[in-house]
Amino acid sequence: MSLPGNQRTNHPSISFEFFPPKTEKGFTVLKKRIIEDFVPLKPSYVSITYGAGGSTLELTRETTLAIKKEAGLPVVSHLTCVGASRDDIALVVDEYMDAGITNILALRGDPPKERAEVPGDFAYAAELVRFVKKRAPGMNIGVAGFPEGHPATPNRLIEMDHLKAKVDAGADYICTQLFFDNRDFFDFTERCRIAGINVPVIAGIMPVVSRSNLQRMAELSPGTRFPAGLLKSVARTRSDEQVERVGIHWATQQVMELLASDVAGIHLYTLNQSRAVLDIYRALGIEDSRQL
Ligand code: FAD
Repeated sequence: MSLPGNQRTNHPSISFEFFPPKTEKGFTVLKKRIIEDFVPLKPSYVSITYGAGGSTLELTRETTLAIKKEAGLPVVSHLTCVGASRDDIALVVDEYMDAGITNILALRGDPPKERAEVPGDFAYAAELVRFVKKRAPGMNIGVAGFPEGHPATPNRLIEMDHLKAKVDAGADYICTQLFFDNRDFFDFTERCRIAGINVPVIAGIMPVVSRSNLQRMAELSPGTRFPAGLLKSVARTRSDEQVERVGIHWATQQVMELLASDVAGIHLYTLNQSRAVLDIYRALGIEDSRQL
């Protein structure tokens, strides 16, 4: 089993997540930022998100290819299946394999808000994993995990069965949704082991960088638990700059504790910005990921 981009054993993978910019200018800015700020940090890999319902297929593919080629970094391309036919997915997978993109994060995605049911050949991510693994056995596949639970499955026992189904279908590792209390992650990884899920679990960390960013996190990932300690610290601040300092400090503490606990990997949600990530590396006292 190979973690994407991380060939060394006994070292955690470190990865950064970006979303594909919608404009040419945004694309140029992101590429420059990746090359100047992120490449020197020597991440194990970077990942590129996929817009809801496959709305950014072209952009995700172009961004993935450009970063792979121009920044020389291993790239994981997110792929969602909600509303997609088998033919749609086969086309993307074949193209990716032809272009040397051999890492995907296989997701169900969310149906558009106005339509709970959308036509498509895949009901859940496990079906996508099974389909891709059969079509492209060389594809390395990650799947999503939810330390605080996924809102659609309040039954905390059944949710682990659903997660296990993705691993049994061929997933190589799990990358988690963001969380702010490491106890949720530690408990989640233990519950994985109890459920017989033995693939690496990568911890998803997102530093809070502003008040509006905090609100957006609450909207985009409902159910996220914001610890009182974090909210109290944010409430004391008078500007977004101060909120960012709190957020970076909190995230750094999380990362330090996770590293001390031999986490398999850390995945930093960047929102396409580099300042918070650079500050976290500085606070960890490291120049690049090889020191971990
Ligand atoms: P699934 O594993 O299919 O699970 C979805 C829900 O269905 C869960 O509640 C699960 O318990 C339940 N379920 C699963 N199997 C069954 C079954 N057989 N019967 C009944 N219920 C079942 N979204 C995007 O659109 N683009 C992205 O790029 C993107 N990147 C993400 C990256 C990460 C690291 C994470 C954690 C999430 C990301 N998402 C992304 C969001 C994700 O698509 C949504 O959270 C989605 O609601 C769940 O996706 P999933 O792959 O976990 O789905």
